[in-house]
Amino acid sequence: MNIVLLGPPGAGKGTQAKKIQEYYSLPHISTGDMLRENINNNTSLGVKAKSYMSRGELVPDELLITIIKDRLSRKDCSAGFLLDGYPRTIPQADALQMILTESSRKLDAVLNISVNDEELIKRLSGRRMCACGASYHMVFNPPKDDEICDLCKGKLYQRDDDKPDAIRNRLIVYKKQTKPLIEYYKKKSILRTLNGGKDISGIFEEVKQILEEYEKL
Ligand code: ADP
Ligand code: ADP
Ligand code: ZN
Repeated sequence: MNIVLLGPPGAGKGTQAKKIQEYYSLPHISTGDMLRENINNNTSLGVKAKSYMSRGELVPDELLITIIKDRLSRKDCSAGFLLDGYPRTIPQADALQMILTESSRKLDAVLNISVNDEELIKRLSGRRMCACGASYHMVFNPPKDDEICDLCKGKLYQRDDDKPDAIRNRLIVYKKQTKPLIEYYKKKSILRTLNGGKDISGIFEEVKQILEEYEKL
């Protein structure tokens, strides 16, 4: 299965992606995680991306298209993949289609996780991350020990772009640049919209119901 997770910042894409990756053995490709790794390693891509990301702006399309083209050409994607955070613009979606067509592949489903702004702000402002990749929410998905990762005991931190000014900007950027992808994929008849207002396991049940249909094909 070749799947895209679509949704505003804070909708729960990363959270659901981890569960889908485990359940369906699909590689989870998060462009946000890839960019943050490049920032941590001080690569030239990381240096270019950093200022856009901390302001809550999108990193330019050409950089993302290069990253995703390279990532999708790797062997672990040949039997399926799960994209989280890409595409975020129409040109990125067009590029994705081209990359897949060139390798005789196509998208099976675009799962659109729908959540209202008030809930998104609560989710983003309570999000805490660990360097090991784990993510938590101080109220909705708290670690066992305050500010300490359950998995590796690392100290949790808040992303720069989960602070109020950047959150506001990310929601504006989403509406302007990413939301049009809903219509884009609706027209291609592969969009499936989920009620993202439920709890984490409730949403995953809905995801499984949808993906079961594709497994049968
Ligand atoms: P969230 O999970 O909260 O939606 P991500 O971790 O996916 O955030 O992305 C964080 C930031 O990384 C974005 O605000 C943007 O600056 C950059 N980014 C990630 N993916 C893309 C993309 N496909 N196109 C442009 N910028 C991206
Ligand atoms: P995204 O990748 O779409 O930006 P995340 O998966 O990182 O979103 O989730 C954003 C925050 O909301 C995290 O702190 C996460 O623990 C929390 N969260 C995720 N799904 C839910 C949910 N269904 N209900 C409440 N909180 C959630
Ligand atoms: Zn950890």
